[in-house]
Amino acid sequence: MPSNTSTGNTSKISLTNWLKPKKSRQKLRKRGAADGPGPLTSASSTTLASIKTTTTQYSYAKGAYGNDNNDDDVPPLPPIAPLQAHRAKYRARNAGLDTQLGENIDYTTLLHSMSLQEGFESDESFYYLADVNRPRGENAIASLPGAIWCRIADLLDAKTAVCLALANKTLYTRLGPRRYLDRLNHGPENRQQKLEFLTLLDRYLPYHLLCIPCARYHRRIRIGHEKIQPTHAQVLNPVFNCPQERNPINPPARHRITHGRSMPFTFVQLATRAHRFGSLKYGLKPESLGRRWRYSEPGGAGTWSVSTRYHIHENRLLMRVISQCFASPGLPPTGKRLLLYSREDYWPFFSACPHWRDGELMDVCKCALDHIPVPRNTAGLQGAEHKFKDAIHGRGRFDPYAIPSQCGKCQPMRRCPRCPTEYLIEVKLSEDTTPDPNSPFGPSSSRDKGVKFRHAIVVTRWSDLGDGSTPSSSAEWAACNGQTDLEQYDSFERLGRRGISGIFESAFTHDTIPGRRIISMNPDNKTGGEKRDDWY
Ligand SMILES: [Zn+2]
Ligand SMILES: [Zn+2]
Ligand SMILES: [Zn+2]
Repeated sequence: MPSNTSTGNTSKISLTNWLKPKKSRQKLRKRGAADGPGPLTSASSTTLASIKTTTTQYSYAKGAYGNDNNDDDVPPLPPIAPLQAHRAKYRARNAGLDTQLGENIDYTTLLHSMSLQEGFESDESFYYLADVNRPRGENAIASLPGAIWCRIADLLDAKTAVCLALANKTLYTRLGPRRYLDRLNHGPENRQQKLEFLTLLDRYLPYHLLCIPCARYHRRIRIGHEKIQPTHAQVLNPVFNCPQERNPINPPARHRITHGRSMPFTFVQLATRAHRFGSLKYGLKPESLGRRWRYSEPGGAGTWSVSTRYHIHENRLLMRVISQCFASPGLPPTGKRLLLYSREDYWPFFSACPHWRDGELMDVCKCALDHIPVPRNTAGLQGAEHKFKDAIHGRGRFDPYAIPSQCGKCQPMRRCPRCPTEYLIEVKLSEDTTPDPNSPFGPSSSRDKGVKFRHAIVVTRWSDLGDGSTPSSSAEWAACNGQTDLEQYDSFERLGRRGISGIFESAFTHDTIPGRRIISMNPDNKTGGEKRDDWY
């Protein structure tokens, strides 16, 4: 029995040792105690970062001291690393904030902060309108003789005079019925004034649209089902029935996107109107205007695939056109021209603003094409020779599929100084899904399944197409169609530091905004277009 007891004791001792908490657990508890009278370190309050620090510290101490038998010899645990402490401190505070914009995305906090910061009493105009004791203005208007009102209206421009005449019944009788309306209706010099006056009626006519060539409202014939059609398809798919539809002297306004594709002004009107009045009764969503297409010319050097996307920012329609074409390495000057210019009208295949001839845009595209790595000749000993030279110069292994880095000329974004348009020219590696005509199994064979990556030139264009009021009063539309000069529209002055590209991309991607320098597409402010000979 004694032996049994002793065995029982020893097993008890060993069992106690075995049940003794592990070193790491003791340290965790010590840390909890060292934190003071605060809450105990529990699983819920232990962050991943702190656990990681503890284990690292423990293994480090174990390695340094070698002896972990002595419980009292455990080194004091330092507080967590400063960066982690900082993160832990601010994590909760930043939880409801947008990472890029710093805006509060917690709607409850947002509403509360609004109610605290600005009271509803601060709205002066609201009080002004709601002031029931304010005397009505008719008597004050009637106190002036009609001749004076006519003198005032004669000094105003035609649009404002009509607005004044229609303001109320007293003014209408004083200024004479229809006198100013007739002035607006007659005379080509008042045509723009008439259009601007008619745009004021937009809100009351959701099922009509202002026709610019006729300067009158037409009834929309496909309400909510209007679709942009390609220009070259010769499909007349109009928004309304217009007598001027096929009049070549007075054509409807449209903006050229690429060969055979354009943006009619009616669609800019529809998209901006629906956004301005907040109802799809008035027009279309900007998302419904986006299109994708491919275009190649017989004898051309490649097929261009183009995609468009639209977005409305501050009531103006922004457009992005991405044009892409696979390019062979080491193209001679003729090959580059064949790839970039259409043989039909000698415009670029990609989307460009009317000022493309005046700047460095085409030079930049040609420079970007030069950066595509040329595959090396490996016949005979040339492969070994190249490898040897690479080793001497400390270069890595040559990779023909590497993403080429662009130079200081072709890497920055370019902005046209005379219209709100920005360009980004890139060389990218993309998958070529077109069947290879030189394939041993034939061009349309399904056996040739290998994934093929090739270098492609990608030209992205961002443009501001204006607010859709009228083609002349919308400065952005007029500039994009080349109807203004540098005095009337200077894009660097108007746009400032915030680029259209930045506004557009931040509307779709939450966190990444392209960080590129924006420089002028035409630093020397060259003009003349086709008359100069350096554009081709
Ligand atoms: Zn019309
Ligand atoms: Zn370059
Ligand atoms: Zn331009």
